[in-house]
Amino acid sequence: MAPVTNGEASKPRKRIAVMTSGGDAPGMNGAVRAVVRMTLQENCEAYAVMEGYQGLVEGGDWIKQMEWADVRGWLSEGGTLIGTARCQDFRERPGRLRAAKNMIEKGINGLVICGGDGSLTGADTFRKEWPSLLSQLASSKEITAAEQEEYKFLNIVGLVGSIDNDFADTDATIGCYSSLGRICEAVDYIDATAFSHQRAFVIEVMGRHCGWLALMAGVSTGADYVFIPENPPPEDWEAHMCDIIKNHRALGKRKTIVIVAEGAHDRDLNKISPTKVKDLLSGPLKLDTRITTLGHVQRGGQACAYDRQMSTLQGVEAVRAVLDAKPGDASHFISVVENKIVRKPLLEAVATTQAVAEAIENKDFDKAVSLRGDEFKEYYDAYMTTTATEDAGQLLPESKRMNIGIIHVGAPAGGMNSATRSAVAYCLSRGHKPWAIHNGFPGLVRHHKDEPIGSVRLVDWLEVEGWISKGGSEIGTNRDLPSKVGLAETAACFKEWKIDGLFIIGGFEAYSALSEMRKGQAEHPPFRIPMVLLPATISNNVPGTEYSVGSDTCLNALVGYCDAIKQSASASRRRIFVVETQGGRSGYIATMAGLAIGALAVYTPEEGIDLAMLGRDIEHLRESFATDKGQTRGGKLILNSEHASATYTTQVIADMIKEESHGRFESRFAIPGHVQQGGTPSPMDRVRAVRLAVKCIQKLEGYADSDKTPEVQMKDEDTMSVIGITGASVVFNSMKRLEAEETDWKDRRPLNESWLAYKKIVDTLSGRPKPMDCCHHCGKKKTAV
Ligand code: ADP
Repeated sequence: MAPVTNGEASKPRKRIAVMTSGGDAPGMNGAVRAVVRMTLQENCEAYAVMEGYQGLVEGGDWIKQMEWADVRGWLSEGGTLIGTARCQDFRERPGRLRAAKNMIEKGINGLVICGGDGSLTGADTFRKEWPSLLSQLASSKEITAAEQEEYKFLNIVGLVGSIDNDFADTDATIGCYSSLGRICEAVDYIDATAFSHQRAFVIEVMGRHCGWLALMAGVSTGADYVFIPENPPPEDWEAHMCDIIKNHRALGKRKTIVIVAEGAHDRDLNKISPTKVKDLLSGPLKLDTRITTLGHVQRGGQACAYDRQMSTLQGVEAVRAVLDAKPGDASHFISVVENKIVRKPLLEAVATTQAVAEAIENKDFDKAVSLRGDEFKEYYDAYMTTTATEDAGQLLPESKRMNIGIIHVGAPAGGMNSATRSAVAYCLSRGHKPWAIHNGFPGLVRHHKDEPIGSVRLVDWLEVEGWISKGGSEIGTNRDLPSKVGLAETAACFKEWKIDGLFIIGGFEAYSALSEMRKGQAEHPPFRIPMVLLPATISNNVPGTEYSVGSDTCLNALVGYCDAIKQSASASRRRIFVVETQGGRSGYIATMAGLAIGALAVYTPEEGIDLAMLGRDIEHLRESFATDKGQTRGGKLILNSEHASATYTTQVIADMIKEESHGRFESRFAIPGHVQQGGTPSPMDRVRAVRLAVKCIQKLEGYADSDKTPEVQMKDEDTMSVIGITGASVVFNSMKRLEAEETDWKDRRPLNESWLAYKKIVDTLSGRPKPMDCCHHCGKKKTAV
């Protein structure tokens, strides 16, 4: 199927090639699909360079023109379908000279390279050398003077594809979260056996010179000790590690997990090997210890939801960057900072990446950590404070220690327990008392202090230690708001338990609860305490943040479900599935899942559904089935948010499609329901829950100041806030301001949803017709069917 063009079909503007290079990474196929389709949509020609730089050096058939259907179904494929290779030739100038000649011969004037730091360093060298390569080719008459002039600027854009997450100036490389998922899955399995036998396991993970995978695996599995190259352990690391592990065992822990990055070393750069660690654990500590090396399992398989979305969004942005580039502009790569996709200069990032390696070589570890970025440092600190339980140096003076209530409100979401665990561990490390309030607000008011079974309990480290990887809500959650159980009763309980800081974890109900308590402050003095909400809901519909804990777990569950359904749709060739998604009155889940699976269409509550829209989509389906003649394997899927339309329900849509297909294809509907809450929380939800929960308690403890009376605190708008990721930063938003300025109370979602623009990308990449668009085949303008 040809893409919708902008009416200049006869005159393609550019030839854009895409290449994958270096180590393969899950998500590379999603990037290639996005680059190819976006290129075609922009009325340019798309090419794929096969086998990385080797294809560029060889030229000819190694550089292949790509059509729309060539990348159908690629989002769910692991590895890279256009191949990758380590190419020695490209490291030398003669190889790069041939590559330049081949590009010009094919008329390629834009190149998107998806690879790791080696590949992008190569790209940077190529870009720097380009003018001299062209001069050499012109003087040897291999290209004409006109060609030299026409191609004088190399338009190159990088996409960072690597499981190691070792490239500077981006939070996440394409593939790193999939790899982390693989590691966490393995560690969770090992954890179970370690617990059963009271064993210790030393697990070596990949990452070359970068400790991101090891650190994140440590954070998301609650490992006892982690060795990373950027921040080696103290000089006496043997004693340090043994003390921490002895301590954990003394607290009652039955298992020990130590994670060793493959590049781990001590402060003198002597390698710390898993065997060395094992000898210590089984020797002085007398633990039954095994070593597990995860190896290439960490590389492979399908990409997780995040890598599919990110590779798609970044692929689209890469094509835009190629098209926007002006002669003389520096080359860019596409980066993600928190939740924001941004273009950054390639040159600086390559230099910073190399500077990390230099800093490590020079034993300047503070510099190495800081060059990895703020996020890396925060994760490291969060890991340390929630692991080293007996570090007396972290304790606050008595006067600053608080009674912190922790409550879950609303439906369960993956990561609620991870957040609770870290909050408890952090509280204990600082001397605060963590009070778990069981079963939400009804739980709080049900029991009182003098009753034997209290629903408000102090929790200890051992109890929460294993919660990091547990789905659901260990302390129980409930939807009922303080107004339902009684504001006065709720306030009385706060007073009874002397709660002087509240950490709320939950979704829109939790947000509403916080709003009620804020408004109730004047009448009920016990509410005049600092409160902070960590948004946790699969729907991701809490104002003040673009990300809620649990939404990533949900997307992974949904993507897994849709992959299975798609396979069935594809096996029977002439079938389309309509899948109903949850998400309340927000289309976030449907849209992001649509990006991750390549849905034909996504119906959201924000946009609604009308007859003309359905007509266009059915017509699109007819064309699509007519052209693919059953030979492509990409199953077809439409996602429908449960509240997109009260009339056009998922079943009605599926029936209408069947009716209108006139027997040429069939349709089915599927409702995954609560499967979408996911089982085990995804690594992203776990690590973000840890980091954000620690920040929340730090925010609360910032108010542990005896100078501030409750009345003063009440006047401080920031005392009640919501933590959120907005754009490129983590922020605390004042609840009062959010309520007034950013909340759509009727539809229970933010007034301005950040992801709305992504919906257009789903449509663009599936070739979905817009109102009044032309027919995909005849090119004629037509009105809606
Ligand atoms: P990754 O991109 O995953 O880090 P490599 O480091 O193996 O993987 O790099 C992939 C390829 O990129 C190499 O085989 C080589 O062709 C090219 N490359 C790497 N570094 C350079 C360099 N400094 N100069 C030129 N080409 C390079």
